Amino acid sequence: MRVVLLGPPGAGKGTQAQVIAGRLAVPAISTGDIFRANVSGQTELGIQAKVYMDSGDLVPDEITVAMVIDRLAEPDAKAGFLLDGFPRTIAQAEQLRDSLDGLGHALDRCLELVVDEDELVRRLSGRRMLVDGAWVQRDDDKPETVRHRLEVYRKQTAPLSGFYAGAGLLVQIDAIGEIDEVTGRALGALGVDDRPAGDPAAN
Ligand code: AMP
Repeated sequence: MRVVLLGPPGAGKGTQAQVIAGRLAVPAISTGDIFRANVSGQTELGIQAKVYMDSGDLVPDEITVAMVIDRLAEPDAKAGFLLDGFPRTIAQAEQLRDSLDGLGHALDRCLELVVDEDELVRRLSGRRMLVDGAWVQRDDDKPETVRHRLEVYRKQTAPLSGFYAGAGLLVQIDAIGEIDEVTGRALGALGVDDRPAGDPAAN
C-alpha cells in the first residue's frame, strides 16, 4: 500500500506513522527525520535544510523532492510506503504523482489527521524528544516558531486536502484521543484490520 499521511504539526503523524507502517508492513518515511539526521550529521543537505527548519519554513521543493524520490527508489519502498511529512506543497504532490506514474505506480490513499489548532499549540509547546538520554525541546517547537509553522501549514500544506479529495484518495480521521484509539480509526479508514498481527482473530 502507498499512503501519504497528512496533518498539521503536532497532529501525531510521527507516532501514528510508525504504528500504521508496521501494521501495513511498509517503511515509514519521514522527511523531517531525514532532514534532522542530516542536520546532526552536518551533511551538505543538513546544512542547507537547517536554515529553513530553524525558522519553521519549508525546505525548498528542489531539495526535498529529489531526496524523497531517491528514498522511494530504495528496495524496501518498492512494494509500498507510508510518507510522513511529504508532500507539503501542491508542487511536491504533483511531482510525487508524476514520479510514481513513471514507475507504473500510484498512491492508494491520503490519510488526513484532523486536530483543531488550540490543541496543536498545546501539544507542540509541551512536546519533548529524547536525544542522547536527555529530553529536549526541538528548536522548531519554540512558541514563536510553532505559530509560524502552523501558518505555513495553513497556507502551503492544507490545500493538499482538496488536492487529494479531488483525486478520490482522501480519507480523514479525528486525531484527538488516545494513541490506540486514533490508530484504530486510521486503520479502519485505510480498510485494514486493526487487530495486531499474530492475533488469531486477525487474518
Ligand atoms: P516535521 O518533522 O515533519 O515537522 O518537519 C520538520 C521540518 O523539516 C519542517 O518544518 C520543514 O522545515 C522541514 N520539512 C519536512 N518535510 C518537508 C517537506 N515535505 N517540504 C519542505 N520542508 C520539509
